[in-house]
Amino acid sequence: MDKPVTVVTGGAGFLGSHLCDKLIEKGHKVICLDNLITGNLENISHLFGNENFRFIKYDVTEFIHVEGKVDNILHFASPASPVDYLRYPIQTLKVGSLGTHKALGLAKAKKACFLLASTSEVYGDPEIHPQPETYWGNVNPIGPRGVYDEAKRFAESMTMAYHRYHGINTRIVRIFNTYGPRMRLDDGRVLPTFISQALKNEDLTVFGDGSQTRSFCYVDDLIEGIIKLLETDFHEPVNLGNPDEITILEFAEEILKLTLSKSKIVFKELPVDDPKVRQPDITLAKKILNWEPKVSRIDGLKLTLEYFKKKVAKS
Ligand code: UDP
Repeated sequence: MDKPVTVVTGGAGFLGSHLCDKLIEKGHKVICLDNLITGNLENISHLFGNENFRFIKYDVTEFIHVEGKVDNILHFASPASPVDYLRYPIQTLKVGSLGTHKALGLAKAKKACFLLASTSEVYGDPEIHPQPETYWGNVNPIGPRGVYDEAKRFAESMTMAYHRYHGINTRIVRIFNTYGPRMRLDDGRVLPTFISQALKNEDLTVFGDGSQTRSFCYVDDLIEGIIKLLETDFHEPVNLGNPDEITILEFAEEILKLTLSKSKIVFKELPVDDPKVRQPDITLAKKILNWEPKVSRIDGLKLTLEYFKKKVAKS
């Protein structure tokens, strides 16, 4: 039987590149599209020369043409850290809106399955805790984070419209904070920032008083959940993340302990619209995917630390 052909937009990014690996391992032919504004060829260089992998440097906000059959399109292209989407606000809006439209258009033309990488940011600064999929969110459309949140909300809306109107076979995954090897040291997210500060014995910058919470999922768990979702026929959004919640201040202390660092903790201004709490309700994922994260934060952090030690040594 022919191998399934899967297009991964944003395939050179943190999550996209892990997906490319997993799909190839599962016997897919992967076409990776990335314009490399936040993606990095280093994440996929080990796949060059693999006959089941093709990389095309491409901006998916333009019409996407792919020769031959396509079975799946996984739309992961987007700047995805607050620092990145503040640096690239227009590109973030464009890839979430125009890019999603083009990727859905390709799905329609090829009669392919389409999976959208959405985000816990659709819940904004949530008033319901933990966040179930049924919560509609609390997003400031004109705040600095709005470019990401609203683009992803639009992307979900567009995906459901293509599903309902054109009968496209679609999936939507709402991804909560995820970490692991291949995150960029300078993407500004809390985990790479704290780890690199700790390894360099620089102060750890806690924003606000550090009482805001996040719940961190190890990348392998997340990728497993995404593949399971692809293999179902469930069209409504599904949360994927690790419900183990921690305050940012406790997280800074945990990183100091883990790295045996002499760094101190300093407090900086809280960014505008920074969500005060975030924790996925994964009841739905447990039920329909029989999925839950397996890697504890401490084990995941140890695996990630090895990667960052090498990166910091090279930087
Ligand atoms: N944060 C922090 N120090 C940093 C970077 C981030 O205290 O150097 C905080 C940030 O304000 C937020 C949390 O850590 O409350 C997670 O931020 P991140 O940028 O990782 O992503 P978010 O979950 O906000 O999308």
